[in-house]
Amino acid sequence: MTGGAGFLGSHLIDRLMTAGHEVICLDNFYTGNKRNIQQWLDNHNFELIRHDITEPIRLEVDQIYHLACPASPVHYQYNPVKTVKTNVMGTLNMLGLAKRVKARFFLASTSEVYGDPDVHPQSEEYRGNVNPIGLRACYDEGKRIAETLAFDYYRQNKVDIRVVRIFNTYGPRMLENDGRVVSNFIVQALQGKPLTVYGDGSQTRSFCYASDLIEGFIRLMNSDYVGPVNIGNPGEYTILQLAEAVRDMINPNAEIIHEPLPSDDPRRRRPDITKAKTLLDWEPTVPLAEGLKLTVEDFRKRMGNAPI
Ligand code: NAD
Ligand code: UDP
Ligand code: UDP
Repeated sequence: MTGGAGFLGSHLIDRLMTAGHEVICLDNFYTGNKRNIQQWLDNHNFELIRHDITEPIRLEVDQIYHLACPASPVHYQYNPVKTVKTNVMGTLNMLGLAKRVKARFFLASTSEVYGDPDVHPQSEEYRGNVNPIGLRACYDEGKRIAETLAFDYYRQNKVDIRVVRIFNTYGPRMLENDGRVVSNFIVQALQGKPLTVYGDGSQTRSFCYASDLIEGFIRLMNSDYVGPVNIGNPGEYTILQLAEAVRDMINPNAEIIHEPLPSDDPRRRRPDITKAKTLLDWEPTVPLAEGLKLTVEDFRKRMGNAPI
């Protein structure tokens, strides 16, 4: 697994290790953390290699879950050229490895390939509306070329690929300084600070709880369908509604303030999950209120029982 020390990767490692698999985790710890995989470090079925996937590596494996790439706008825009390298050279190296050892290759792609969508909800057939020269392009276009590479290795080299398009996912282990909306609001409310809504808060997102997403990953990896498949929760909320939900859960007196909307911020996002339902018999099971509660508990523990 690449990116195994990150938020989603570490949950996937938990799932695979618990099922008795042998796992090799490659990570350069750019946004990942050893703490996330601490519990497996002494397990003889687990191996951690500090490695930057923009460099080649030779290993023997049966399956590759390729997740390495910073996912939060704050982190992927910090060094956009590196984000492109990770998506292009990193994905190329992992596909080269898959080709050499005949491993099944799973790409963690994203709903960002749809950009600021003019079709709603987004089905896999929609080709997207991405600004190729904007601040988000290093990530959006990076993931689009990663998908292209996966499909070209599939057609040209018969690499057995699976491609998932992940919609916004949240849960325990998100970084406190991650910059994504769920973690920002929870940290702000726990610290008694105002919740920062960008723009008027009318833009929408659909939030999937991590365990639901991981179940979708496993089902896709072990199915016969190549993809791409949307995995996400179709429940759609405005960012203002999310702010109010987090405020009411943690600190009803917290203030909600407005800050400028970042450029190219997509207006709406909701997955059409017909394919996941019919081909993988998958749909999310954790409602937002329940998932937020579990996530808040985790943040409280990590932040040393912050006041309120
Ligand atoms: P994350 O930032 O927590 O994890 C990414 C991991 O990749 C980190 O451990 C990081 O250190 C590692 N990494 C980054 N560049 C690397 C490199 N060059 N070499 C080796 N390791 C490197 O993010 P996440 O939320 O766990 O996302 C995992 C994957 O899922 C990413 O590919 C992301 O694009 C995709 N995704 C996530 C979401 C979401 O809502 N969380 C949504 C859509 C897509
Ligand atoms: N690669 C790798 N590990 C492997 C096999 C390949 O990192 O086990 C890298 C390789 O260095 C190359 C990339 O994957 O940069 C693509 O490999 P491929 O064999 O498809 O292309 P080529 O090496 O012929 O350019
Ligand atoms: N957002 C916000 N306040 C924050 C962080 C994010 O209002 O503190 C907004 C952001 O502008 C976007 C939405 O929440 O409209 C989701 O942002 P995130 O960075 O989590 O993910 P993405 O934009 O990649 O979906």
